[in-house]
Amino acid sequence: MASVSLASGEKYPCGMEGEFVADIRGGQFLINSQTSLPATGGTPLMPAVDPLVDAWESIRNGLRRDVGARTYDHWLKPVQLIDYDPEDGAVVLALSSRFMADWVSNNFGDRLRLAWRSMMPEVRDVRFVAGDQARPDGAIASAQPSLIHATSPLAATDAPATDGSILVAGSPLDPRFTFDNFVCGKANELAFNAARMFAQPASPGFNPLFLHGGTGLGKTHLMHAIGHAWRAHRPDARIVYMSAEKFMYEFVAAMRARDTFSFKERLRSADVLMIDDVQFIAGKDSTQEEFFHTMNEIIAAGKRLVITADRSPQDLERIESRILSRLSGGLVADVNPADYELRLNIIIRKLETMPQTRMPMPVVEFLARRITSNIRELEGAVNRVAAYAMLQSREIDLDFAQETLADVLRANQRRISIDEIQRRVSEHFRIRQAEMTSARRSRDVARPRQIAMYLAKQLTPRSLPEIGRRFGGRDHTTVIHAVRQIEKLRATDADIDQEVRLLIRQLEG
Ligand code: ADP
Ligand code: MG
Repeated sequence: MASVSLASGEKYPCGMEGEFVADIRGGQFLINSQTSLPATGGTPLMPAVDPLVDAWESIRNGLRRDVGARTYDHWLKPVQLIDYDPEDGAVVLALSSRFMADWVSNNFGDRLRLAWRSMMPEVRDVRFVAGDQARPDGAIASAQPSLIHATSPLAATDAPATDGSILVAGSPLDPRFTFDNFVCGKANELAFNAARMFAQPASPGFNPLFLHGGTGLGKTHLMHAIGHAWRAHRPDARIVYMSAEKFMYEFVAAMRARDTFSFKERLRSADVLMIDDVQFIAGKDSTQEEFFHTMNEIIAAGKRLVITADRSPQDLERIESRILSRLSGGLVADVNPADYELRLNIIIRKLETMPQTRMPMPVVEFLARRITSNIRELEGAVNRVAAYAMLQSREIDLDFAQETLADVLRANQRRISIDEIQRRVSEHFRIRQAEMTSARRSRDVARPRQIAMYLAKQLTPRSLPEIGRRFGGRDHTTVIHAVRQIEKLRATDADIDQEVRLLIRQLEG
């Protein structure tokens, strides 16, 4: 199979030409939540829970009557039923942000618990989770999996979904993450088009599809969209979506039980297998080796495989080259940070789903200009402004947005790159920039290098291993040592402290 690897912007406009688009427009690919879920305002995440869905519907109707349309529309309508854990009798409800989840929990938690208990006595508790809990970076996110995709006990066994498709030991798909809801722009058009091609029943001519890019840029969204599209086209398709962590966990459990065979068989029975965030596995330990062999076998068995990671296959650490070439032997598509126009379009699209929120265009433009980090944060900002305006009965204007988002705006102020730090520090100490990555250890280059590592840790969100890599492939312990060293020096040596201060000012300025 030919290997195709493109960077965004090289090819494909948003929306591919020719038959594929005609198919989509012709309705064959109509993929929105209505196809698989009851059209009841908010759409529940979990299929296969009919009595729960019914109960939830009555509870919502009751609440709408009780609290009035305005409050209901703003706070309660967005609540989604995503799960029920029969073990502890807890219903899990999701909101789009931590703020919303807390607010609803504080103001309506008891009422909801009561309502659930009176509808279904087996429900003993109601839990609230936030769907957009930030995954700031790989390391933290791995310890704190996004709750909305948390392991679902209902999905842990093969469960027929309401639309007839089968969930094989996976996690449910988020009904909001469809192609229809995905705004396409230069930054993501390659990934978007590749995903749509992969969602066609006809062989896309490549396998696997490997999507990579920074956090919060829409990788999981595209992955789920592929699942929805398949399901719409082939209702009996077996679609498995799993975070790599869950995969890892189950795989290790299977190894302990000396039964990896049936685990692999279960995965092989999927028509489409989607593994999210594989960077958590790469370079961890020996089990990652097994993981990638399994992936390999699954591709060999002709199953469609979609993988996402925060970096390209080549940048995944410590992976055997033949496995690597298999992984990158399909289509590798990057998702880049959104440019201004895309950010603007995403906010506009989002506001269309929030009819109660009036956000004047200058505020929309302001947010699109200033919140550059990622789409998740952008969505969070829009939600926060809308929610606070609602809570305080305030009109949304520029002042209000600035006030409400002070912390987010500060964090988005300016992105300083490691490259910039290396350049600036080399200039300052009059050494060649190549010394930043060189192996030379003499004091006149080692000290500036340490200062640059220290600044990289202070001024960028990069992890220690990543910083080490950018400084000539040094180990993260070297970075830790540099950071400690400079901290110590700053406390004892006023000259060094001055110099570091000056560099920080220049870099931030
Ligand atoms: P990732 O998996 O890359 O970390 P997600 O797919 O979870 O990012 O996206 C984060 C949030 O941003 C989701 O709510 C998603 O719907 C939204 N999002 C990202 N890209 C787009 C886009 N192009 N159009 C609409 N929403 C988007
Ligand atoms: Mg993701």
